[in-house]
Amino acid sequence: MSPLAEMTLSENALDFIDDARLIGLLAGPAPDAAAVRDVVAKSLEKHPLGLEETALLLKADAPEQVEMIFDAARELKRRVYGNRIVLFAPLYVGNQCVNDCAYCGFRRSNRAQVRRTLETPELIHQVEALEKVGHKRLILVFGEHAAYDAAFISACVRSVYGVRVGHGEIRRVNINAAPQDDEGYRAVKAAGIGTYQIFQETYHHETYRRYHPAGTRKGDFLWRLDGLSRAMEAGCDDVGIGALFGLYDWRFEALGLVAHALQLQERYHCGPHTISFPRMRPASGVKFDEKYFVNDRDFKRLIAILRLSVPYTGLILTARENAQLRREAMGFGVSQIDAGSRIEIGGYTEAGDAQVMEREQFQLGDVRPLDTVIRELLADGYIPSFCTSCYRLGRTGEHFMEFAIPGFIKRFCTPNALATLQEYLTDYASPETRAAGEKLLAAELAKIDEGSLKSDLAGRLERIRTTEERDLYF
Ligand code: SAM
Ligand code: SF4
Repeated sequence: MSPLAEMTLSENALDFIDDARLIGLLAGPAPDAAAVRDVVAKSLEKHPLGLEETALLLKADAPEQVEMIFDAARELKRRVYGNRIVLFAPLYVGNQCVNDCAYCGFRRSNRAQVRRTLETPELIHQVEALEKVGHKRLILVFGEHAAYDAAFISACVRSVYGVRVGHGEIRRVNINAAPQDDEGYRAVKAAGIGTYQIFQETYHHETYRRYHPAGTRKGDFLWRLDGLSRAMEAGCDDVGIGALFGLYDWRFEALGLVAHALQLQERYHCGPHTISFPRMRPASGVKFDEKYFVNDRDFKRLIAILRLSVPYTGLILTARENAQLRREAMGFGVSQIDAGSRIEIGGYTEAGDAQVMEREQFQLGDVRPLDTVIRELLADGYIPSFCTSCYRLGRTGEHFMEFAIPGFIKRFCTPNALATLQEYLTDYASPETRAAGEKLLAAELAKIDEGSLKSDLAGRLERIRTTEERDLYF
């Protein structure tokens, strides 16, 4: 009997990935410039793209067409979302795993991996370290194991929210863990999670089978594909999808992601909150087949096309990528990055090299401290943001609101970004970062029209600077 026989799928669970259809959409000649221009224009009018239109952009490989796509993605990002970048940190809680995903250092057959699960005091210690440098948003990451059931995950979430150091607190806890059943999602929702992330890894069935052995929990394609539909039905409407790039043709995976986003939107009238697009990194004992590795140019195309196709969804670019690539790719519509990340279990407090392969799931490409990343963002004209306001005020689907409601960014997102930046500058920043940040704050404030919002915001920034008041969100 399958280990999943007793697990329940969502209502009318459906494997909506038709490999032949997606491959067919990517076949045929490259489009001409006029066709690319039409699709790009539609996206700039804030209309999400369908699979055919996304495929057309994926087939556009001529340098001038790629430039057109890059320019449009930058423009859409600027026009719709402004210049905020939200910052978070991953916190790996445990690396026990019953699965055997061939690309992952945590796979059960990897005897070299040092297995460890943080005890509650250790978890708290990690969170304290993260708060001390200024983090406000975390994603807790778990292997798949009976020990990491929904009750355990929920207890971790509650512990994290309870940690306070000085002005520090974690205001949003997201999760990346195994798919749950209905009851599991209800439990983690009740613990106050933000986004529940599950990456399909690959949407291509045959490749999925190759990397995820049959008989393992993760070996069931539909159980995973359906994972976020179950979340939606259990009331977790804030979900993140993703694919691991390097397992199969990147263009196919891009269509898979868009198909997944469209499916959630159609079925639940709420698309995914975020899309992640991790690229394969070296991992303990993993021998890579490089056939489908994605080069930097194609990776940037991928980000730009996702921005245009799914304009109401946040895009997450992680520290798997190196600093230079992150800096370049940011402008194509990335909305969130992690910074100061350590993925070794206990890595935020325990001295030592964050790059010991036997203690990590894979190797990171950008291990710069949060303050350095913030300074670079400021130098490039971005507003680093730790905002968590929408989710705490019940304004879920915030990216959708930013996208769809005129004036939303002006009224809420920019003021909240500036207030949380002010907190960072006052409580945690190095003198250089503080100076750069105060300059940016003044410039951003000057851009706001005279009126009650501006004076209210200026007042709040002043209160943060000069008093103990914090968390003054709109
Ligand atoms: N165990 C949970 C699961 O598989 O859903 C949590 C996921 S894992 C800790 C987080 C993600 O890391 C995976 O979904 C996968 O996409 C990614 N990952 C695994 N191995 C990787 C590697 N070698 N390089 C880059 N990303 C990797
Ligand atoms: Fe386990 Fe997740 Fe790694 Fe697969 S990707 S081996 S499920 S931790």
